[in-house]
Amino acid sequence: MEFDVIRQFFLPLSSVAQLAEGDLAIGDDGAIITPPADCQLVVVTDTLVAGVHFPVDTAAYDIGWKALAVNLSDLAAMGAQPAFYSLALTLPQVDQAWLSSFTQGLADCAQPYHLPLIGGDTTRGPLTISVTAQGWVPKGAALLRSGAKVGDAICVSGWMGEAGLGLSLALSQQAAKTSAESTALVRLNRPQARVALGVKLVGLANSAIDVSDGLLADLNHILQASHLGARLDLAAMPLSDAVQAWAGEARLKPLCAGDDYELCFTVSPEKLPDIISLAQALDIKISHIGHTTAQPGLVVDEQPVHLQKLGFNHF
Ligand code: ADP
Ligand code: MG
Repeated sequence: MEFDVIRQFFLPLSSVAQLAEGDLAIGDDGAIITPPADCQLVVVTDTLVAGVHFPVDTAAYDIGWKALAVNLSDLAAMGAQPAFYSLALTLPQVDQAWLSSFTQGLADCAQPYHLPLIGGDTTRGPLTISVTAQGWVPKGAALLRSGAKVGDAICVSGWMGEAGLGLSLALSQQAAKTSAESTALVRLNRPQARVALGVKLVGLANSAIDVSDGLLADLNHILQASHLGARLDLAAMPLSDAVQAWAGEARLKPLCAGDDYELCFTVSPEKLPDIISLAQALDIKISHIGHTTAQPGLVVDEQPVHLQKLGFNHF
């Protein structure tokens, strides 16, 4: 790719504030990073394909925001502090206005973490955005899916099914008619990765995952990895009135909808007061929705749930 495009749009995102003396971001064949002592590097990648992961008419700003946010959500689920990211961008053509909005979305999403763009690749083809984000976690302290214990409290941040409601509005080309509907569209297009929460859960939670494919499917990954089952209480689920109205009789629908980018985690029950304090300190809603069981399988309101029949499938 001509270096002019890189200089104009990507170089400004590569502020080296986060980098150590002698480290290098965009401009050479590769970036150079000095790892901090006593940390492990957590590396995550997520790709967004136009028409598959977002509707083709999504605003360039929102695509940029979301491409980074979904990666920050994976880092949060590991308990990692984000450190830098790279971008592999495939574009049908060089459209200055589009690139300008897209990179603004990236910049605004990165800003709270002073996260530099350290490199990438730019190619021509159908619009595809692949971000790799990297972060640091104290050695041996990362949050894993496999760490849940029998009798753990299962908790989830934020509200479930908002992005699902947002997507149904976006796909039906309906403008938001109520403030609840605009909230749902914002949650779909500009998810807020729970980075501060993830970092604070290190040493507190036994296991964690981010909710990208629907709460039930993602919780099930924890259960499989930890060889456990779970019992959940539908009345404890954080569901807005608008999401409940959208779900109607299909009461599990908001728990199967993707793209919420909240954290689902388990803690031993005696740590629940710490979780309540943390929720207050971070001003985040955290709901205690059930507990893990030695008996495998997922039970919601005393009814066994069969996940093969539910959830979001990538293919
Ligand atoms: P090379 O041919 O050695 O792979 P490029 O010409 O593709 O180098 O890229 C030149 C520099 O610009 C490299 O430092 C690369 O990391 C950076 N770069 C290219 N595309 C992007 C992008 N989309 N985002 C961030 N940095 C990029
Ligand atoms: Mg090279």
